[in-house]
Amino acid sequence: MARPPESVVHGSAAPPEHSPEASAKNLPSIDRLLRAPAVAALVAEHGHTLVADAARSLLADFRERIGHAQLAPSAIEFEAIERSLANRVQARLAPRMKPVLNLTGTVIHTNLGRALLADAALAHVQAMMAGPNNLEYDLATGARGDRDSIVEGLLCELTGAEAATVVNNNAAAVLLTIAALARGKEVIVSRGELVEIGGAFRMPDVMESAGAKLVEVGTTNRTHPHDYERAMTERTALLMKVHTSNYAVQGFTSAVDEATLSSIAKKHGLPLATDLGSGALIDMAAYGLPREPTPQEMLGAGCDVVTFSGDKLLGGPQAGLIVGTREAIGRIRKFPMKRALRMSKLPLAALEATLMLYQRPERLARDLPTLRLLTRPLADIEATAQAVLPALQTALAPRYTVSTVPLQGQIGSGSLPIERLPSSGLAIAPVEKKGSGRALDALAAAFRQLPTPVIGRIADDRLILDCRCLEDFTQLTTQIPHLSL
Ligand SMILES: *Cc1c(COP(=O)(O)O)cnc(C)c1O
Repeated sequence: MARPPESVVHGSAAPPEHSPEASAKNLPSIDRLLRAPAVAALVAEHGHTLVADAARSLLADFRERIGHAQLAPSAIEFEAIERSLANRVQARLAPRMKPVLNLTGTVIHTNLGRALLADAALAHVQAMMAGPNNLEYDLATGARGDRDSIVEGLLCELTGAEAATVVNNNAAAVLLTIAALARGKEVIVSRGELVEIGGAFRMPDVMESAGAKLVEVGTTNRTHPHDYERAMTERTALLMKVHTSNYAVQGFTSAVDEATLSSIAKKHGLPLATDLGSGALIDMAAYGLPREPTPQEMLGAGCDVVTFSGDKLLGGPQAGLIVGTREAIGRIRKFPMKRALRMSKLPLAALEATLMLYQRPERLARDLPTLRLLTRPLADIEATAQAVLPALQTALAPRYTVSTVPLQGQIGSGSLPIERLPSSGLAIAPVEKKGSGRALDALAAAFRQLPTPVIGRIADDRLILDCRCLEDFTQLTTQIPHLSL
């Protein structure tokens, strides 16, 4: 709920005789405040600790503001204090993490939590977290089990890998792979693939953290097989390819594909690892989406290890998935750092349920929210924009005009940034051109302050609300009366 302000500076009460400002002498004691019926009711509901603590901090704030002559007497009338206290208690009980409406047009938005979990994953998490489970317990033998075994079979089935393991996220998967296979040795990577993925994940830094020496080959735009061959020494331990997920090098380019690189690696008895980043488990092109290389293709081309994220195109929880040969995965699993990077039972339950959805590919576009949103028919998105339009027009007139507009969205989270998703949404523009920048910022802020904050984007002097991820338009329309401009 929107929080009313804690105090009102200009009240209607008559000022006290001597001073137009509130006096600290008029503040009630903590004890008197806590005994007041309305406050006693708060204590009965939430307990003494929280309410007394909120009361102490409220009175301390009042005292300080009185000291700075910032409070009107009406603000410290007893009833006003009671209301302020109730608001303060509510504010303390309101979680910092809250649901938002992602109307940015970027479906897998890292700042907004990436993939949405499927109902099946939510249900499995709830069922598994509410009590004990067989996380590391082998029910057949009654002996200690391995948490990897919960998803390893599924991952092997879905990707064709011999073995699989999972860690906390893909950054951890890459770090662990390099450390386990090449600590103290050299890793050859093309200069065109030395990516930074945001959040300070840069390939050269990851190499250093993993204790491996990065050997760069080729140039930014072109790398050839002989570049790798020439860089090999007896200290080389790993060849690595990184999927350049968040940018595209276009024009006069050349990269060495996995199959070619794999034959070079094999000739020298070295493993080849590929960091796919997004790693879709299905052929995205079959759904009319931009093509993404799959782990199964990478393994088929001869990669020994493929790493990818759980919460990007896969549509599951934050996770780092590592699939590959029995030999390479065995070394990775045994490496001591694995213990520090292991997945917790909570996302593991979500991952298992998400992977199980892939066993029924015909239903996937319905069951997996990420794929459902990415494949949502344009007509549907347009209908949503139309449904929201009248209420927004009424609420924002006369200061803003609102219209439906065709838009270009994106997949997000390291899928090709140059590929666009045709979408539809609302464009809100200030009528008064003077000061329109400030008016737009204020409007965007008002949407962010709704009970379920609405996150759009500002472009071309308009606030854009992309409706692709708004499957239930009432989530927006019911909030419009709360907009405070
Ligand atoms: C996203 C990405 C990562 C990091 O994955 P997280 O799951 O966010 O840790 C690593 N490499 C590539 C190529 C990526 O796209």
